[in-house]
Amino acid sequence: MSVPDMKSDINPLCDKHMVEMEAVRVRAKVGASEVWTWSAFRCSTRGCTRSFDSGGYTTISDGLIDPESGNFIGCEDGAMFIESVEEGRLIWRCSKVGCQQSRTTDRAFRPD
Ligand SMILES: [Zn+2]
Ligand SMILES: [Zn+2]
Repeated sequence: MSVPDMKSDINPLCDKHMVEMEAVRVRAKVGASEVWTWSAFRCSTRGCTRSFDSGGYTTISDGLIDPESGNFIGCEDGAMFIESVEEGRLIWRCSKVGCQQSRTTDRAFRPD
């Protein structure tokens, strides 16, 4: 869950709202008793708690990661974020430093 090699100059889009996310530090419970803080991106839409980090998209609210909320698409070694929306398709880009892989999916590929 640490993100030492996630690109720092990326602008992920929220996988729900398709708006730019903001770089933040999130703090959440990991496992039974540990609380971690790490760098992530968070949706700027009021009330939206979607976050993106090296583990993909998740919902983090009140310091808890919703285990059902994960939306992960990636290459062999990194999670991809939604870079842009083009004609109803999502352009995904790898978040890992040094990796430029991308994928295109149907816009429907996202959680409700
Ligand atoms: Zn959002
Ligand atoms: Zn990659």
